[in-house]
Amino acid sequence: MFESLTTRLTGVFDRLKRRGALSESDVAEAMREIRIALLEADVALPVVKDFVAKVRERAVGQEVIKSITPGQMVVKIVHDELVAILGSESSELRLGSPPAVVLMAGLQGSGKTTTSAKLARRLRSRERRKVLLASLDTQRPAAQTQLEVLARQSEVASLPIIPGQGALDITRRALDTARREGYDVLILDTAGRLSIDDALMEELAAVRDLARPSETLLVADALTGQDAVNTARIFHERIGITGIVLTRMDGDARGGAALSMRHVTGQPIKLVGTGEKLDALEPFHPERIASRILDMGDVVSLVEKAAEVVDRDEAEKLAKKLAKGSFDLSDLRTQLQQMRKMGGMKGILGKLPGIQKVQKQLEEANIDEKLLVRQCAIIDSMTPAERRNADLINASRKRRIAAGSGTTVQDVNRLLKQHRQMQDMMKRMKKMGGLQNLFGRGL
Ligand code: GDP
Repeated sequence: MFESLTTRLTGVFDRLKRRGALSESDVAEAMREIRIALLEADVALPVVKDFVAKVRERAVGQEVIKSITPGQMVVKIVHDELVAILGSESSELRLGSPPAVVLMAGLQGSGKTTTSAKLARRLRSRERRKVLLASLDTQRPAAQTQLEVLARQSEVASLPIIPGQGALDITRRALDTARREGYDVLILDTAGRLSIDDALMEELAAVRDLARPSETLLVADALTGQDAVNTARIFHERIGITGIVLTRMDGDARGGAALSMRHVTGQPIKLVGTGEKLDALEPFHPERIASRILDMGDVVSLVEKAAEVVDRDEAEKLAKKLAKGSFDLSDLRTQLQQMRKMGGMKGILGKLPGIQKVQKQLEEANIDEKLLVRQCAIIDSMTPAERRNADLINASRKRRIAAGSGTTVQDVNRLLKQHRQMQDMMKRMKKMGGLQNLFGRGL
């Protein structure tokens, strides 16, 4: 996502930064290039026009021409304006008094059902809310069962299915159950259609009037670009949405939908779907997306992700061992596994600043998830005694471990070397006394 836009913008900025001073024609040239870059990223034309006009106005002004580093000032202005079109205010969900109703709307295939389950899971695990899921989709065969299955996987309750009931009857029953059984949040997954039609809108409006939702979220597929934006605009005109969930942000969408949504619909993107798994739903942070587009990396969300997936107990246990200077191969395995949970090296590295420029080198360096899997397999093939004391591992043991893990003796050697290096580093850090501080912050 955003890759080609980033490459284009980085090129413009690199040229600007090389100049000591900027003339108006330098700025005009840069603006022309930014305009093309945005259009190529499939950003809606009115958004592009507005954006370029605002940046130009500020860029030809005193603040840039007079500044010592004009190129960087332009980067800063572009960054600020990106944040502004993405929506600078907070995009928190506003949930009213229990049971708060969240109405999910969208076209078929946009990811509505998956997103409903992801949201339920998120509210349950992050905010400790008691959530009830209900599917009003009487159109698509098996839609209700699909939600039931996803609800189970999310460890969230779902309304029992009564075959033959219509959307409004299900809504009434869901509201009843939510009130009677003390649910905090009721998420209603509505029926989608292949395209917008009147029957769909009328049904949605009727459900909305009955359920009086605190949030009406439109689920839209980022890969469909401007179609997603138009869909959102029409849904907003017809039923009044309060926010947007943009799915498939993990795909290779060019970014147009993300950048145009707010400007065209007037409604904020509140959440983004970043994968098929049920934990792949994140709050939308305009600031961070803008930084990512400008290749400033996304360090903040990386740190958050790390804190979330890394098992705290394990991390603390590890920290204690490290403090004692004992870091054996079982500990290394635990650490490798935590790295895998963080989405593998690619997921982590992709969020670091400046990384798009060195992406190729990384691929050549062959740092990938498969390596982590292989390394865990090597450690799994060792005996407990070997894991405690790596010195036991002589040539014949190495051959046995390699055969057991489907790797080579060289692979085993590489892993042992890595472990030795980490042990050395731990010892040095222990001497410096900085370790406790490092881990005390929870990574
Ligand atoms: P619905 O018809 O709108 O209810 O769509 P579904 O929830 O059934 O989703 C359609 C497909 O999109 C499913 O295979 C989902 O796993 C997939 N999907 C949903 N959200 C995302 C996402 O954020 N990223 C990716 N890669 N796939 C998604």
